[in-house]
Amino acid sequence: MFDFLIVGQGLAGSVLAYTLLKRGCRVMVLNTETKPAASAVAAGLYNPVTGRKMVKTWMADTLFPFLEEFYAQVAQDTHVQALHAMPIYRPFASIEEQNDWMGKTSNNALDFFVQQIAGECLYDDDIYNPYGGLALQHCGYLDTIAFLSSIRQLFIRQQCYCEENFDYKKLEIEDTRVQYGDYCAKFIIFCEGPGAVQNPYFNWLPFSLVKGEIIIIEPDRPVERIYNRGVFVIPVEKYCKVGSTYEHHHLNLEPTAAAREQLCEKLNILLKIPYKVVSQLAGIRPATQDRKPFLGMHPRLKPLVIFNGLGTKGVSLAPYFAHELVEFLCRGQELSAEVDISRYFQLYNRVIA
Ligand SMILES: Cc1cc2nc3c(=O)[nH]c(=O)nc-3n(C[C@H](O)[C@H](O)[C@H](O)COP(=O)(O)OP(=O)(O)OC[C@H]3O[C@@H](n4cnc5c(N)ncnc54)[C@H](O)[C@@H]3O)c2cc1C
Repeated sequence: MFDFLIVGQGLAGSVLAYTLLKRGCRVMVLNTETKPAASAVAAGLYNPVTGRKMVKTWMADTLFPFLEEFYAQVAQDTHVQALHAMPIYRPFASIEEQNDWMGKTSNNALDFFVQQIAGECLYDDDIYNPYGGLALQHCGYLDTIAFLSSIRQLFIRQQCYCEENFDYKKLEIEDTRVQYGDYCAKFIIFCEGPGAVQNPYFNWLPFSLVKGEIIIIEPDRPVERIYNRGVFVIPVEKYCKVGSTYEHHHLNLEPTAAAREQLCEKLNILLKIPYKVVSQLAGIRPATQDRKPFLGMHPRLKPLVIFNGLGTKGVSLAPYFAHELVEFLCRGQELSAEVDISRYFQLYNRVIA
């Protein structure tokens, strides 16, 4: 008998399974590599200041210190350093923006993340930034492929990974446990990312899937830091990842010429270094209507649990919210109202009415 079956081994399933194992729980991860995983395409950026208005992201003060500690702990156990802390430089878009930032006091809510506010242009050889910009710290990127494969090896070594295309029809649900083939557990936690829309138990939740594409470029000379304005440019060895696009309607996995052109157009406004595009990737983000994750128990079938809806920010959201879900399941602590799926129970009631 397991404590938890986990369906899916993207960022959500991996981080959750690891957190549960650390608690001493008996876990089995069921995952198929035959389905596309958003996590395998993700650029892996964790960036505390986002958007055109350069504001602090939701819960950054809590999420970012937590993620740094979490991925460091995984690195110790897997011997693979997948998290790469690296400064992000964001050029100002205008003289007004420069003035706004230069006028901010040191008690700014962003202090923890701001390394330098530059009034003059920096890194002039690399990028266009006539008004200077903002250098950020406590940020960087997760090499998601390295993370997923190293943690999978850890699960395999601990005999808690099974390559399985989960078949919902084979699941037997009782009041206090579930049975799936030979596996019996107290709870099953669904972490199928965008695949959740096929899940008959949770497909009433308002997902709002978003296709994203990135390009991989080879610049003429090395890039030393992450640049971010319009697009992000993340140096990974001799290449850079550049992204990303947002497409709400055509939710397929085909890379498109239009996305490539859009990314190159924005990149040419930012980057001075000549480059060539060497490849292009597309994936589907498991985003939600209110842009908050989905955590919690099924309204009627208590052994069924979901951990999903990480949207555009799986790298930073997964560690803290996996911890929150584990506290809920193992110690009965309440989930935050903003992420608890009970906020949508009226949709479920409408479906079954
Ligand atoms: C182009 C792009 C760029 C991105 N960039 C970033 C970024 O820079 N930073 C960031 O934080 N986030 C980024 N994201 C978002 C990030 O990818 C997601 O937030 C995150 O990967 C979601 O993880 P997940 O585990 O929920 O889903 P997934 O990674 O999709 O994992 C789901 C897993 O479940 C498995 N599965 C599904 N159904 C079944 C089944 N029936 N049986 C067995 N297994 C099943 C799949 O095979 C897969 O392995 C990006 C996404 C895209 C598409």
